[in-house]
Amino acid sequence: MIYQHCYLDGSPLDFPVGKVVCIGRNYLDHIRELNNMVPETPILFMKPATALIALDQPIQLPVGRGGCHHEVELAVLVGRQLQNADAETACRAIAGYGIALDLTLRDLQNELKKKGYPWETAKAFDGSCPLSSFLKPEALPEPQATDLSLRVNGEIRQQGNTQQMMVSIFDLMAYISTYFTLQPGDVVLTGTPAGVRPLASGDRLILNLAGHEFTARVA
Ligand code: ZN
Repeated sequence: MIYQHCYLDGSPLDFPVGKVVCIGRNYLDHIRELNNMVPETPILFMKPATALIALDQPIQLPVGRGGCHHEVELAVLVGRQLQNADAETACRAIAGYGIALDLTLRDLQNELKKKGYPWETAKAFDGSCPLSSFLKPEALPEPQATDLSLRVNGEIRQQGNTQQMMVSIFDLMAYISTYFTLQPGDVVLTGTPAGVRPLASGDRLILNLAGHEFTARVA
Protein backbone atom coordinates (compact mmCIF):
# COMPACT_ATOMS: atom_id res chain seq x y z
CA MET A 1 0.00 0.00 0.00
CA ILE A 2 1.37 3.42 -0.96
CA TYR A 3 1.69 5.84 1.93
CA GLN A 4 -0.19 9.15 1.80
CA HIS A 5 -0.42 11.86 4.50
CA CYS A 6 -3.98 12.00 5.90
CA TYR A 7 -6.00 13.98 8.41
CA LEU A 8 -7.53 12.27 11.42
CA ASP A 9 -10.88 11.91 9.61
CA GLY A 10 -9.14 9.97 6.82
CA SER A 11 -9.24 12.77 4.24
CA PRO A 12 -5.96 12.95 2.30
CA LEU A 13 -3.62 15.92 2.79
CA ASP A 14 -2.59 17.61 -0.40
CA PHE A 15 1.17 17.30 0.18
CA PRO A 16 3.76 15.08 -1.44
CA VAL A 17 5.43 12.46 0.75
CA GLY A 18 8.92 13.69 1.55
CA LYS A 19 11.81 12.90 3.83
CA VAL A 20 11.69 12.36 7.58
CA VAL A 21 14.21 14.26 9.69
CA CYS A 22 14.79 12.89 13.19
CA ILE A 23 16.65 13.88 16.34
CA GLY A 24 18.66 11.20 18.09
CA ARG A 25 18.60 12.20 21.77
CA ASN A 26 16.00 14.68 22.95
CA TYR A 27 14.62 13.27 26.21
CA LEU A 28 17.04 12.97 29.14
CA ASP A 29 15.47 9.78 30.55
CA HIS A 30 15.98 8.00 27.21
CA ILE A 31 19.61 9.18 26.95
CA ARG A 32 20.23 7.70 30.41
CA GLU A 33 18.59 4.34 29.69
CA LEU A 34 20.95 3.74 26.75
CA ASN A 35 23.99 5.11 28.64
CA ASN A 36 24.54 7.75 25.97
CA MET A 37 26.23 11.13 26.42
CA VAL A 38 24.06 14.26 26.45
CA PRO A 39 24.84 15.84 23.07
CA GLU A 40 26.09 19.42 22.86
CA THR A 41 24.21 19.98 19.60
CA PRO A 42 21.21 18.02 18.30
CA ILE A 43 22.07 14.70 16.62
CA LEU A 44 20.16 14.61 13.34
CA PHE A 45 19.50 11.75 10.96
CA MET A 46 17.05 11.11 8.14
CA LYS A 47 14.73 8.46 6.88
CA PRO A 48 13.71 8.47 3.21
CA ALA A 49 10.08 8.53 2.02
CA THR A 50 10.28 4.74 1.59
CA ALA A 51 10.52 4.43 5.40
CA LEU A 52 6.94 5.67 5.80
CA ILE A 53 3.99 3.33 6.23
CA ALA A 54 0.57 4.11 7.64
CA LEU A 55 0.29 3.10 11.29
CA ASP A 56 -2.78 0.97 10.55
CA GLN A 57 -0.78 -1.25 8.17
CA PRO A 58 0.89 -4.34 9.70
CA ILE A 59 4.45 -3.58 10.83
CA GLN A 60 6.99 -5.87 9.16
CA LEU A 61 10.04 -6.48 11.33
CA PRO A 62 13.27 -7.04 9.38
CA VAL A 63 14.31 -10.70 9.59
CA GLY A 64 17.71 -11.83 10.86
CA ARG A 65 18.95 -8.40 11.83
CA GLY A 66 18.63 -8.50 15.62
CA GLY A 67 16.21 -6.68 17.90
CA CYS A 68 13.95 -3.99 16.48
CA HIS A 69 13.04 -1.40 19.11
CA HIS A 70 9.99 0.85 19.25
CA GLU A 71 10.59 4.56 19.84
CA VAL A 72 7.33 6.48 20.12
CA GLU A 73 7.64 10.10 18.97
CA LEU A 74 5.62 13.21 18.27
CA ALA A 75 5.63 13.77 14.49
CA VAL A 76 5.31 17.18 12.87
CA LEU A 77 4.10 17.62 9.29
CA VAL A 78 5.78 20.50 7.47
CA GLY A 79 3.38 22.61 5.40
CA ARG A 80 5.68 25.33 4.06
CA GLN A 81 9.27 25.49 2.92
CA LEU A 82 11.75 26.30 5.70
CA GLN A 83 15.34 27.30 5.08
CA ASN A 84 17.45 29.02 7.76
CA ALA A 85 14.15 29.69 9.52
CA ASP A 86 13.65 31.02 13.03
CA ALA A 87 11.44 29.27 15.58
CA GLU A 88 8.46 31.55 14.98
CA THR A 89 8.50 30.93 11.22
CA ALA A 90 8.86 27.20 11.89
CA CYS A 91 5.78 27.29 14.13
CA ARG A 92 3.70 28.91 11.40
CA ALA A 93 4.83 26.30 8.84
CA ILE A 94 3.32 23.34 10.72
CA ALA A 95 0.49 21.59 8.87
CA GLY A 96 -0.29 18.93 11.45
CA TYR A 97 0.76 16.80 14.41
CA GLY A 98 0.84 13.02 14.51
CA ILE A 99 2.51 10.17 16.34
CA ALA A 100 5.12 7.86 14.86
CA LEU A 101 7.39 4.95 15.63
CA ASP A 102 11.07 5.45 14.91
CA LEU A 103 11.80 1.74 14.47
CA THR A 104 15.43 1.01 15.27
CA LEU A 105 17.49 -2.13 14.72
CA ARG A 106 19.20 -1.67 18.09
CA ASP A 107 21.77 -4.47 17.86
CA LEU A 108 22.85 -3.26 14.45
CA GLN A 109 22.89 0.37 15.62
CA ASN A 110 25.11 -0.58 18.58
CA GLU A 111 27.56 -2.28 16.19
CA LEU A 112 27.58 0.78 13.92
CA LYS A 113 28.04 3.17 16.86
CA LYS A 114 30.97 1.12 18.16
CA LYS A 115 32.70 1.42 14.79
CA GLY A 116 31.81 5.10 14.36
CA TYR A 117 29.74 4.34 11.25
CA PRO A 118 26.50 6.06 10.16
CA TRP A 119 23.20 4.62 11.44
CA GLU A 120 21.15 4.49 8.23
CA THR A 121 20.83 0.74 7.89
CA ALA A 122 19.58 0.55 11.50
CA LYS A 123 17.21 3.50 11.27
CA ALA A 124 16.17 4.25 7.69
CA PHE A 125 15.17 0.86 6.26
CA ASP A 126 11.88 0.33 4.38
CA GLY A 127 8.89 0.61 6.71
CA SER A 128 11.00 1.96 9.60
CA CYS A 129 8.60 4.87 10.19
CA PRO A 130 4.98 3.82 10.84
CA LEU A 131 3.09 7.13 11.04
CA SER A 132 -0.42 8.08 12.19
CA SER A 133 -2.86 10.43 10.53
CA PHE A 134 -2.48 14.09 11.51
CA LEU A 135 -4.33 16.42 13.86
CA LYS A 136 -4.71 19.94 12.54
CA PRO A 137 -2.42 22.35 14.44
CA GLU A 138 -5.41 24.03 16.12
CA ALA A 139 -6.39 20.63 17.57
CA LEU A 140 -3.12 20.60 19.54
CA PRO A 141 -2.92 24.12 20.97
CA GLU A 142 -0.06 23.27 23.37
CA PRO A 143 2.25 21.01 21.38
CA GLN A 144 5.08 21.61 23.87
CA ALA A 145 2.97 20.35 26.79
CA THR A 146 1.44 17.21 25.32
CA ASP A 147 1.33 13.65 26.66
CA LEU A 148 2.39 10.79 24.46
CA SER A 149 2.53 7.12 25.31
CA LEU A 150 2.87 3.63 23.91
CA ARG A 151 1.23 0.46 25.18
CA VAL A 152 2.29 -2.95 23.90
CA ASN A 153 -0.12 -5.84 24.56
CA GLY A 154 -1.82 -3.75 27.23
CA GLU A 155 1.40 -2.91 29.11
CA ILE A 156 2.58 0.68 29.27
CA ARG A 157 6.07 0.82 27.74
CA GLN A 158 6.73 4.49 27.02
CA GLN A 159 5.15 7.52 28.59
CA GLY A 160 6.29 11.09 28.32
CA ASN A 161 5.34 14.69 27.87
CA THR A 162 6.76 16.98 25.22
CA GLN A 163 7.73 19.38 28.03
CA GLN A 164 10.60 16.96 28.70
CA MET A 165 12.27 17.67 25.34
CA MET A 166 15.69 19.27 25.60
CA VAL A 167 15.30 21.02 22.23
CA SER A 168 11.79 22.38 21.70
CA ILE A 169 9.78 21.48 18.58
CA PHE A 170 10.08 24.90 16.90
CA ASP A 171 13.78 25.32 17.80
CA LEU A 172 14.46 21.85 16.43
CA MET A 173 12.74 22.65 13.12
CA ALA A 174 14.67 25.92 12.87
CA TYR A 175 17.95 24.11 13.59
CA ILE A 176 17.20 21.39 11.03
CA SER A 177 16.44 24.05 8.41
CA THR A 178 20.00 25.42 8.70
CA TYR A 179 21.27 22.09 7.30
CA PHE A 180 18.38 20.60 5.34
CA THR A 181 15.66 22.66 3.67
CA LEU A 182 12.34 21.40 4.97
CA GLN A 183 9.71 21.14 2.26
CA PRO A 184 5.94 20.76 2.32
CA GLY A 185 5.21 17.08 3.02
CA ASP A 186 8.40 16.48 5.03
CA VAL A 187 8.03 15.10 8.55
CA VAL A 188 10.07 15.90 11.65
CA LEU A 189 10.36 13.34 14.46
CA THR A 190 11.10 14.96 17.79
CA GLY A 191 12.76 12.22 19.85
CA THR A 192 11.58 9.48 22.20
CA PRO A 193 11.08 9.23 25.96
CA ALA A 194 12.46 6.28 27.93
CA GLY A 195 11.13 2.73 27.74
CA VAL A 196 12.37 1.54 24.36
CA ARG A 197 12.20 -2.29 23.97
CA PRO A 198 12.22 -4.85 21.18
CA LEU A 199 9.00 -5.57 19.31
CA ALA A 200 7.84 -9.11 18.58
CA SER A 201 5.64 -10.71 15.96
CA GLY A 202 1.96 -10.40 16.90
CA ASP A 203 2.43 -7.45 19.28
CA ARG A 204 -0.57 -5.14 19.56
CA LEU A 205 0.23 -1.48 20.03
CA ILE A 206 -1.75 1.52 21.23
CA LEU A 207 -0.14 4.90 20.64
CA ASN A 208 -1.68 7.84 22.44
CA LEU A 209 -1.19 11.49 21.55
CA ALA A 210 -3.00 13.98 23.77
CA GLY A 211 -5.82 11.48 24.33
CA HIS A 212 -6.11 10.43 20.69
CA GLU A 213 -5.57 6.67 20.40
CA PHE A 214 -4.05 4.97 17.38
CA THR A 215 -3.71 1.19 17.13
CA ALA A 216 -1.05 -0.77 15.30
CA ARG A 217 0.12 -4.35 15.12
CA VAL A 218 3.27 -6.21 14.29
CA ALA A 219 2.87 -8.80 11.52
ZN1 ZN B 1 14.05 8.18 17.75
